[in-house]
Amino acid sequence: MTRPESAPHATATPHWNGGWLAQAKHLPSPNFGPRPARASIDLVVVHSISLPPGQYGTGAVQQLFTNQLDWDAHPYYQGIRGIEVSSHFFIARDGVIWQFVDCDARAWHAGISQWRGRDRCNDDSIGIELEGLEGLTFETAQYASLQWLSTAIAARYPVAFIAGHEHIAPGRKRDPGPGFDWQRLQALLASGQATAHWQLPPPATR
Ligand SMILES: [Zn+2]
Repeated sequence: MTRPESAPHATATPHWNGGWLAQAKHLPSPNFGPRPARASIDLVVVHSISLPPGQYGTGAVQQLFTNQLDWDAHPYYQGIRGIEVSSHFFIARDGVIWQFVDCDARAWHAGISQWRGRDRCNDDSIGIELEGLEGLTFETAQYASLQWLSTAIAARYPVAFIAGHEHIAPGRKRDPGPGFDWQRLQALLASGQATAHWQLPPPATR
Protein backbone atom coordinates (compact mmCIF):
# COMPACT_ATOMS: atom_id res chain seq x y z
CA MET A 1 0.00 0.00 0.00
CA THR A 2 1.33 3.41 -0.92
CA ARG A 3 1.41 5.91 1.85
CA PRO A 4 -0.78 8.92 0.98
CA GLU A 5 1.07 12.11 0.17
CA SER A 6 -0.63 13.98 2.98
CA ALA A 7 0.28 11.48 5.70
CA PRO A 8 3.48 12.69 7.32
CA HIS A 9 6.45 10.46 6.75
CA ALA A 10 7.51 8.81 9.98
CA THR A 11 10.89 10.51 9.83
CA ALA A 12 9.60 13.99 8.99
CA THR A 13 10.58 16.64 11.49
CA PRO A 14 7.43 18.09 13.05
CA HIS A 15 6.95 21.79 12.47
CA TRP A 16 4.68 23.84 14.70
CA ASN A 17 3.11 27.20 13.92
CA GLY A 18 2.01 28.11 17.43
CA GLY A 19 -0.27 25.26 18.44
CA TRP A 20 -0.91 24.16 14.86
CA LEU A 21 1.09 21.30 13.41
CA ALA A 22 2.20 22.09 9.88
CA GLN A 23 2.03 18.47 8.68
CA ALA A 24 -1.64 18.06 9.62
CA LYS A 25 -4.58 19.00 7.43
CA HIS A 26 -6.15 21.98 9.13
CA LEU A 27 -9.92 22.28 9.47
CA PRO A 28 -10.61 24.79 12.24
CA SER A 29 -13.48 23.97 14.60
CA PRO A 30 -15.49 26.60 16.48
CA ASN A 31 -15.76 24.16 19.41
CA PHE A 32 -12.95 25.20 21.71
CA GLY A 33 -12.15 27.60 24.52
CA PRO A 34 -9.21 28.86 26.52
CA ARG A 35 -7.25 26.56 28.77
CA PRO A 36 -6.98 27.57 32.42
CA ALA A 37 -4.04 29.81 33.23
CA ARG A 38 -0.84 27.87 33.84
CA ALA A 39 -2.32 24.61 32.54
CA SER A 40 0.40 22.01 32.21
CA ILE A 41 -0.45 20.04 29.10
CA ASP A 42 0.90 16.66 30.14
CA LEU A 43 -1.74 14.20 28.90
CA VAL A 44 -2.66 12.78 25.49
CA VAL A 45 -6.10 11.19 25.29
CA VAL A 46 -6.68 8.54 22.63
CA HIS A 47 -10.22 8.12 21.29
CA SER A 48 -11.95 6.30 18.46
CA ILE A 49 -14.80 7.55 16.32
CA SER A 50 -16.43 6.85 12.99
CA LEU A 51 -19.63 8.22 11.52
CA PRO A 52 -21.90 6.57 10.86
CA PRO A 53 -20.36 4.07 13.32
CA GLY A 54 -18.23 1.55 11.45
CA GLN A 55 -18.19 3.51 8.19
CA TYR A 56 -14.87 5.07 7.24
CA GLY A 57 -13.88 7.93 4.99
CA THR A 58 -17.33 9.49 4.93
CA GLY A 59 -16.18 12.96 5.97
CA ALA A 60 -18.87 12.98 8.66
CA VAL A 61 -16.40 13.16 11.55
CA GLN A 62 -14.89 16.29 10.04
CA GLN A 63 -18.42 17.67 9.63
CA LEU A 64 -19.28 16.84 13.25
CA PHE A 65 -16.23 18.61 14.62
CA THR A 66 -17.01 21.73 12.58
CA ASN A 67 -20.77 21.79 13.31
CA GLN A 68 -21.52 20.98 9.66
CA LEU A 69 -23.09 17.54 10.11
CA ASP A 70 -26.54 17.05 8.61
CA TRP A 71 -28.36 15.47 11.56
CA ASP A 72 -31.01 14.03 9.26
CA ALA A 73 -28.52 12.22 7.04
CA HIS A 74 -28.47 9.04 9.14
CA PRO A 75 -30.71 7.57 11.89
CA TYR A 76 -27.73 7.31 14.27
CA TYR A 77 -27.31 11.08 14.19
CA GLN A 78 -30.67 11.55 15.97
CA GLY A 79 -29.00 10.39 19.16
CA ILE A 80 -26.25 12.97 18.94
CA ARG A 81 -28.23 15.80 17.36
CA GLY A 82 -26.94 19.20 18.35
CA ILE A 83 -23.83 18.12 20.23
CA GLU A 84 -20.84 20.42 19.92
CA VAL A 85 -17.59 18.52 20.22
CA SER A 86 -14.09 18.63 18.85
CA SER A 87 -10.70 17.07 19.15
CA HIS A 88 -7.30 18.51 18.45
CA PHE A 89 -6.50 15.68 16.02
CA PHE A 90 -8.17 12.98 13.96
CA ILE A 91 -6.15 10.18 12.35
CA ALA A 92 -7.97 8.64 9.39
CA ARG A 93 -7.62 4.99 8.41
CA ASP A 94 -4.94 5.91 5.85
CA GLY A 95 -2.85 7.67 8.49
CA VAL A 96 -3.68 11.19 7.36
CA ILE A 97 -3.70 13.57 10.33
CA TRP A 98 -6.37 16.24 10.59
CA GLN A 99 -6.23 19.08 13.10
CA PHE A 100 -9.31 20.99 14.29
CA VAL A 101 -8.18 22.94 17.34
CA ASP A 102 -5.01 24.83 18.23
CA CYS A 103 -3.21 22.71 20.82
CA ASP A 104 -2.72 25.80 22.95
CA ALA A 105 -6.53 25.91 23.25
CA ARG A 106 -8.97 23.62 25.04
CA ALA A 107 -10.82 21.20 22.76
CA TRP A 108 -14.04 19.44 23.77
CA HIS A 109 -13.29 15.73 23.63
CA ALA A 110 -13.04 14.27 27.14
CA GLY A 111 -16.10 15.43 29.07
CA ILE A 112 -16.33 14.45 32.73
CA SER A 113 -13.03 12.75 33.34
CA GLN A 114 -10.17 12.15 35.73
CA TRP A 115 -6.60 10.96 35.30
CA ARG A 116 -3.28 11.21 37.13
CA GLY A 117 -5.11 12.69 40.13
CA ARG A 118 -6.71 15.57 38.24
CA ASP A 119 -10.18 15.97 36.78
CA ARG A 120 -11.50 18.05 33.85
CA CYS A 121 -9.03 16.44 31.48
CA ASN A 122 -9.99 18.80 28.65
CA ASP A 123 -8.22 21.55 30.58
CA ASP A 124 -4.75 20.13 30.15
CA SER A 125 -4.81 17.35 27.58
CA ILE A 126 -4.53 16.95 23.82
CA GLY A 127 -7.19 14.78 22.21
CA ILE A 128 -6.44 12.40 19.35
CA GLU A 129 -9.30 10.60 17.65
CA LEU A 130 -8.55 7.48 15.64
CA GLU A 131 -11.01 6.64 12.91
CA GLY A 132 -12.41 3.34 14.06
CA LEU A 133 -15.00 1.47 16.05
CA GLU A 134 -14.82 0.20 19.63
CA GLY A 135 -13.90 -3.47 19.60
CA LEU A 136 -12.40 -3.43 16.11
CA THR A 137 -8.74 -3.05 15.23
CA PHE A 138 -6.84 -0.11 13.79
CA GLU A 139 -4.57 0.23 10.76
CA THR A 140 -0.78 0.09 10.78
CA ALA A 141 -0.79 3.54 9.15
CA GLN A 142 -2.76 4.86 12.13
CA TYR A 143 -0.26 3.48 14.65
CA ALA A 144 2.58 5.01 12.64
CA SER A 145 0.87 8.39 12.56
CA LEU A 146 -0.03 8.16 16.24
CA GLN A 147 3.60 7.47 17.09
CA TRP A 148 4.81 10.33 14.92
CA LEU A 149 2.14 12.69 16.28
CA SER A 150 2.90 11.76 19.89
CA THR A 151 6.56 12.53 19.33
CA ALA A 152 5.63 15.79 17.62
CA ILE A 153 3.47 16.79 20.58
CA ALA A 154 6.26 15.87 23.00
CA ALA A 155 8.56 18.26 21.17
CA ARG A 156 6.33 21.21 22.14
CA TYR A 157 4.38 20.18 25.25
CA PRO A 158 5.47 18.56 28.54
CA VAL A 159 3.43 15.43 27.88
CA ALA A 160 4.09 12.50 30.17
CA PHE A 161 0.84 10.53 30.14
CA ILE A 162 -1.15 8.84 27.39
CA ALA A 163 -4.46 7.14 28.10
CA GLY A 164 -7.69 6.15 26.42
CA HIS A 165 -11.02 7.88 26.86
CA GLU A 166 -12.13 4.60 28.49
CA HIS A 167 -9.45 5.09 31.17
CA ILE A 168 -10.20 8.70 32.04
CA ALA A 169 -14.00 8.22 31.97
CA PRO A 170 -14.50 4.57 33.01
CA GLY A 171 -18.05 3.33 32.95
CA ARG A 172 -19.08 6.23 30.73
CA LYS A 173 -16.80 5.80 27.73
CA ARG A 174 -15.32 2.70 26.09
CA ASP A 175 -13.17 4.09 23.29
CA PRO A 176 -10.75 3.33 21.77
CA GLY A 177 -11.76 -0.13 23.04
CA PRO A 178 -10.21 -3.60 23.18
CA GLY A 179 -9.19 -3.49 19.51
CA PHE A 180 -6.57 -0.86 20.29
CA ASP A 181 -3.18 -2.43 21.03
CA TRP A 182 -1.57 -0.50 23.89
CA GLN A 183 1.45 -2.80 23.93
CA ARG A 184 2.05 -2.01 20.28
CA LEU A 185 1.84 1.70 21.01
CA GLN A 186 4.16 1.30 23.97
CA ALA A 187 6.73 -0.46 21.78
CA LEU A 188 6.44 2.21 19.08
CA LEU A 189 6.88 5.03 21.57
CA ALA A 190 9.87 3.31 23.12
CA SER A 191 11.49 2.76 19.72
CA GLY A 192 11.32 6.43 18.77
CA GLN A 193 13.47 9.27 19.88
CA ALA A 194 13.04 9.41 23.62
CA THR A 195 11.84 13.00 23.84
CA ALA A 196 9.28 11.96 26.45
CA HIS A 197 8.98 9.22 29.02
CA TRP A 198 5.46 8.08 28.38
CA GLN A 199 3.36 6.64 31.14
CA LEU A 200 0.66 4.40 29.70
CA PRO A 201 -2.42 3.07 31.48
CA PRO A 202 -1.59 0.19 33.84
CA PRO A 203 -1.77 -3.19 32.07
CA ALA A 204 -4.71 -4.35 34.20
CA THR A 205 -6.88 -1.66 32.66
CA ARG A 206 -5.88 -2.18 29.04
ZN1 LIG B 1 -13.78 9.42 23.14
